[in-house]
Amino acid sequence: APGLYLVATPIGNLEDITLRALRVLRLADRIACEDTRQTQKLLNHYGLKTPTVSYHMFNEAGRAEELASELKQGARIAVVSDAGTPGIADPGSQIAAAAIAAGVPVFPIPGANAAISGLIASGLPTEGFQFHGFLPSKAGARKSALEKLPRGPVSHLFYEAPHRLLESLADLQTVFGPDQHVVVARELTKLHEEFLRGPVSVIHATLAARDLVRGEIVLMFALPEGVVEVKQVGILAEVTALVKAEG
Ligand code: SAM
Repeated sequence: APGLYLVATPIGNLEDITLRALRVLRLADRIACEDTRQTQKLLNHYGLKTPTVSYHMFNEAGRAEELASELKQGARIAVVSDAGTPGIADPGSQIAAAAIAAGVPVFPIPGANAAISGLIASGLPTEGFQFHGFLPSKAGARKSALEKLPRGPVSHLFYEAPHRLLESLADLQTVFGPDQHVVVARELTKLHEEFLRGPVSVIHATLAARDLVRGEIVLMFALPEGVVEVKQVGILAEVTALVKAEG
C-alpha cells in the first residue's frame, strides 16, 4: 500500500532484519536514509536496488514538499536510520509527523533496537522501564539527570558513547553509591558482544583496567526503593583495587 514505512534495520548482525522489512525495502519507490552510504551496504548485502535519498534532502523544505506530494500521489517511501529502529535516538519522528499531517498513512516495520535488546538480556526488571537516550555529556547536567531518576522496579536505559562510559559510571557511583547494580551491554549482536553486570564500582574498575573502552554501549540499572546512604564502603574499595590489579 502507498504510505510512509519506518523500517528497522540491524544494529550489528546483518541477519537481524525481518522478511517483511526486506520486502518493504525492495518494493519502496525510494528509501530515505540517515546516511546513504551506510544503508547502501545493507542493500548490497541483500541485493536490493531501490534508489536512496538522504534525510538532509528530505528535510529541506522544498524536498519535503516534493516527497509529501509523491506520498499523496501514492508513492511508497521507506525511512531507515543507520542502525536499529528509526525515531529511537535517531531521526524518524518528524518525518512521521509530517506524513501524518499530510494525511498519508504511516506504517511501523518493527525490528532491532539496542535498548530493548540490552534490557531483555540484562536480568533487570522488564515490567517497567524508561528509555532516556544519551546521558548529558557535561558532568553537572549528567549528575542532576541521574539524581532526578525515579526509584522503584523500573529499569533505566541509556545509550552511552564509549569515551564517556567511565565518567558516567563514576558519576553513578557518586550519586547512588559503589554497590549500585549496573549492567553494561556492549556491541550487541556483534562478534564482541559483552554483558558486564555487577556493582558499579566493580564494573568501573574492570573497564578502567582496559586500555580503551570501545564499541557501542547500552547502560542500564534499576534504583532500589528508599534512600540509600552514599559512601565509599571499605570492602568495595578493596575489591576495586583487586580487580584493577588483576587487569
Ligand atoms: N535507532 C537505534 C536503535 O534503535 O537502537 C539507536 C541509534 S543511536 C544514534 C546509537 C546508539 O545506540 C549507540 O551510541 C549505542 O549507545 C546504541 N547502540 C546501537 N547499536 C548498538 C549495539 N549493537 N550494541 C550496543 N549499543 C548499541
